[in-house]
Amino acid sequence: MTATLPGSRLKPNSHRSKNATESFTHITEFKTPIQFLKGVGPHFAEVLRSRGIETVGDLLEWYPRAYEDRRVARSISDLRPGEIVSISLNVVRVSSVQLGKSKRRMYDVVLKDHTGTINAKYFRVPYRGYFERFQPGMRVRVVGKVTLYRNRVEFHHPDLRDDDALEVATDCLIPIYTETEGITLQKIRGIILSALEKVKGNVPERLPQSLLKKYELSGLYESLKALHDPPKDADAEFTRGRSVFHKRIIFEELFWLELLLANKRALVKVESAHELRGGVEKVQDIIKSFTYELTNAQKRVIGEILTDLHQPHPMHRLIQGDVGSGKTVVALLACAYAIRNGFQSAIMVPTEILSEQHFKNAKSLLEPFGIRIGLLTGSLTAKEKKDVVSKLKNGEIDLVVGTHALIQEGVEFQKLGFVVVDEQHRFGVHQRQDLKQKGVLPHFLLMTATPIPRTLAMTVYGDLDVSIIDEMPPGRTPVVTRVVYPNKEILVYQFIREQIEKGRQAYVVYPLVEESEKIDLKNAVDEFEKLKNIFPKFKLGLLHGRMKPDEKEHVMNEFRANKTQLLVSTTVIEVGVDVPNATIILIEHAERFGLSQLHQLRGRVGRGDFKSYCILKHGHAVSDESRARSEIMAETSDGFKIAEADLEMRGPGQFLGARQSGLTGFKMANLVRDIDILHQAREAAFAIVKEDPQFKLPEHKILHEMLTKKSGPISLGTVG
Ligand code: ADP
Ligand code: MG
Repeated sequence: MTATLPGSRLKPNSHRSKNATESFTHITEFKTPIQFLKGVGPHFAEVLRSRGIETVGDLLEWYPRAYEDRRVARSISDLRPGEIVSISLNVVRVSSVQLGKSKRRMYDVVLKDHTGTINAKYFRVPYRGYFERFQPGMRVRVVGKVTLYRNRVEFHHPDLRDDDALEVATDCLIPIYTETEGITLQKIRGIILSALEKVKGNVPERLPQSLLKKYELSGLYESLKALHDPPKDADAEFTRGRSVFHKRIIFEELFWLELLLANKRALVKVESAHELRGGVEKVQDIIKSFTYELTNAQKRVIGEILTDLHQPHPMHRLIQGDVGSGKTVVALLACAYAIRNGFQSAIMVPTEILSEQHFKNAKSLLEPFGIRIGLLTGSLTAKEKKDVVSKLKNGEIDLVVGTHALIQEGVEFQKLGFVVVDEQHRFGVHQRQDLKQKGVLPHFLLMTATPIPRTLAMTVYGDLDVSIIDEMPPGRTPVVTRVVYPNKEILVYQFIREQIEKGRQAYVVYPLVEESEKIDLKNAVDEFEKLKNIFPKFKLGLLHGRMKPDEKEHVMNEFRANKTQLLVSTTVIEVGVDVPNATIILIEHAERFGLSQLHQLRGRVGRGDFKSYCILKHGHAVSDESRARSEIMAETSDGFKIAEADLEMRGPGQFLGARQSGLTGFKMANLVRDIDILHQAREAAFAIVKEDPQFKLPEHKILHEMLTKKSGPISLGTVG
């Protein structure tokens, strides 16, 4: 799959160097459609196309997922389920049985060596005459994955062929590709070898020679050749996918990504923005009015923001801070600072509940200082909306808090200078861009309470400056977390009762999974009725995503004012909700939540001075993995540690979200495993952009080509 490099906004170079262009004249070789390769008929072309492989370049990027080492003789008794092996065996017999009443047959080839027998089963015939070739007593080569079925190891659809007719020497390493229905490994190998043959001598090097030298990387063709046609003397590093050839490919994948990020960041730094003058004294009176002292982390981050605002370039800064670390006041102070420099500010949040909350906060903290605050959400009446919109345009509102409504058509600002996006992971990239375009390059502050591992932050947020609030307001004691099972329900309710009797409040949360939204909703509503009977003395509220915004708002207000003591909710309360008097959260079906979601939910309590509790209640059937998740939750309240654990358990996909969904699509690189290579690729990319931002040096022309090119010689589908 060839893809574009969207973020690149480099203007096409008008006087392209002849050399750089020339080095790409051979791209055609990579672009050759696969059906022009020897051995690829219409059928194979179709099968390959269904895997997204259309060109020779795509094919060469279809890297082996493993290597089988023929240099070691294997025997049946030492086969382990899950491993891919190549083993030489004798045919005992070939038989076929009808599958049930259908016409389909299962073929069963019984094989043996001196250590035992094993079955190779086929539920479809690879091709006509496939089995006729094998007679009892014949020696065959079996290549496939060892499968455990009813406690016995067997092969399913292995590659089977006459061992003597081997087209490859027996003492080598064979690349194994992810099998695709309709293509045998042998066939894949054949096609890829002919692709290599086809491009031989025509593969342009895309990385500057200086990089190859500095990072000891092998050449592009050399690497492709080695990966698909391993050298005889390949060592263990190679079989594990850690050879210099692998490194070269991984480095390159990561390098394009980092180059893109470095370029993006450099572009931001040359855009011009309003310089907001002054120091923290500009908002000192507001800070003094707070009932608490800012934490050192909050002060440091405010300092970092103000330094950015002094620059003639727009700030693009992300605050990463754990739930409850106090990001809101930092954002509000920065807004106030921009306003006192004569600009409007906007805060965009993902939910109406949150916008109401920030609006209230802003009103109580900033309005006394003459700052005029507006709220813009989807649930305003047409008249209210019109009023806010016209005030924004006339500059009669200084700070507006809102949801997506902020970026709708017709919303204009008089002088927007500063934009905050809270819980930014909830927004797609474009929505943020839209808000940005409302003003003349406003400064941009993003906030996220879903900490992501530092290693990942580097790539995911590679084009942003990152500030970290790594300190909690004083007096917070970590939330006590317990895992319980349904048989402890009565004790749990008793505990909740005690808390409420002490004057505290509680949340009970039910999962809401998209596919079965209706059923889940019913659960929450049913449980609400049940809980009313269990807690007859208390007032209960019910909150879920299907309610109208003003109903939700009403329910939240009642809870905030302690008019209701127990809030039954679906995950709509997950982000940002701040009710310091709530000290206990019971999460039902905790096994259905991911780690970061559990962490977010737990963050709803422990926000005040009272000792708080989080009870993770599991259903009856719980997997080891969800048990492990709960254990991590019980062990630590540090969002960064939880993120690391999540990364280990589930991989990086979930952290990337809308921001760079392509990040998980690397062909070979793995952001977790290849962190060292990532560091190098980043160092290399940023150094180049710093030294030569316009890519003017001859050896950088090729980078410019790659960045501006709609499609590279080999897919860059991983970038962007
Ligand atoms: P989050 O970072 O999760 O958005 P909030 O900004 O909602 O956290 O803050 C959580 C709670 O901590 C709020 O009730 C806020 O008023 C309070 N808070 C913020 N900063 C401090 C501080 N320095 N000292 C004490 N309480 C604070
Ligand atoms: Mg918040």
